[in-house]
Amino acid sequence: MMKTQLLSLTPEELREFLSAKGQPGFRAKQVFSWLHAGVPFEQMSNLPKALRQELSETCIDNPIAILETIESKLDGTIKLLYRLTDGHVIEGVLMRYKYGNTLCLSTQVGCRMGCKFCASTLDGCARSLTPAEMLGQIVAANGILAAQGQKVHNIVLMGSGEPLDNYDNVVKFLRLLRMEDGICIGMRSVSLSTCGLVENMRRFAQEDLPVTLSLSLHAPNDEVRRQLMPVANKYKMDDVLDACRYYIEQTGRRVIFEYALVHGVNADPEQAYELADRLRGMQCHVNLIPLNSVPERGLTGVSEPEVDAFKKALEKKNISVTRRREMGDDIEGACGQLRRRYIKENE
Ligand code: SAH
Repeated sequence: MMKTQLLSLTPEELREFLSAKGQPGFRAKQVFSWLHAGVPFEQMSNLPKALRQELSETCIDNPIAILETIESKLDGTIKLLYRLTDGHVIEGVLMRYKYGNTLCLSTQVGCRMGCKFCASTLDGCARSLTPAEMLGQIVAANGILAAQGQKVHNIVLMGSGEPLDNYDNVVKFLRLLRMEDGICIGMRSVSLSTCGLVENMRRFAQEDLPVTLSLSLHAPNDEVRRQLMPVANKYKMDDVLDACRYYIEQTGRRVIFEYALVHGVNADPEQAYELADRLRGMQCHVNLIPLNSVPERGLTGVSEPEVDAFKKALEKKNISVTRRREMGDDIEGACGQLRRRYIKENE
């Protein structure tokens, strides 16, 4: 029998689940708080012993187990490797900023979007993660931070996977994430990164989950975008940008455009001017990422002067732009890299 992942249940679902076992209504709140605080069934001290026993036999408290952690000597960034209950392995990154701890979550095992520069997609997508498996990554990271009297403050959905390709689970995860009795992280502390699935972007704009939307643009026009991202064959950049404008209207939040600079493909200052023209008048910000070279794909990053020239060209056109700080460069911080090494070594 498949064990039930209790972390995926809303308080109402939990109440129903427990009342089917003859438990009174108040148990749901107790179990919900314990689960989200990372307490295993055996230690849920205000539950009857028989219930604790039954839950450990039939349910899962946290479906995420930490396999390995690697801490960067440069900046304290911690790379995490997790194992799921079915044996799949996923990864995450915990970044220690002055303003708080940010955890980068995976939303799928691998990814099926096929971006040419991305290591997560090289083996396709094995499956999507459940809400419990997304919350469980935070619960597990909080377990590590607790030793230092700390916890996770911010979430970025920028690990492996396309969050809007796992729509229902991601939306349920976000609704559970902000609950007061649970992990209680507000939507202003969450960023969701998408390669631009237009229908689901528009649908998401209406969910009343006003997270910061990061849009992986990576190109000034459709032709260049198609060279890097197969998803650009399905959605025109005009439609993606319209969906961004709609998101800004609905949520009042600005959109961040992610732009990974790839040598010889999208990094020419002329392309920065073209990009600026496309983004004119939008309430947005451009985040430049020097590409983490993916040798498997033969794509290379850019030099510092190239980043600078591109950034200056955008600034000249009054586009708000920053260069993303690289964290954990010594520990394979980029998405998908560590997992791939682990799988290769353990084949
Ligand atoms: N699927 C989502 C989120 C995951 S990737 C998305 O596409 O946005 C998070 C960010 O890292 C995306 O902007 C992605 O394009 C970028 N990225 C992936 N591989 C990269 C690499 N090798 N170098 C730099 N950025 C990369």
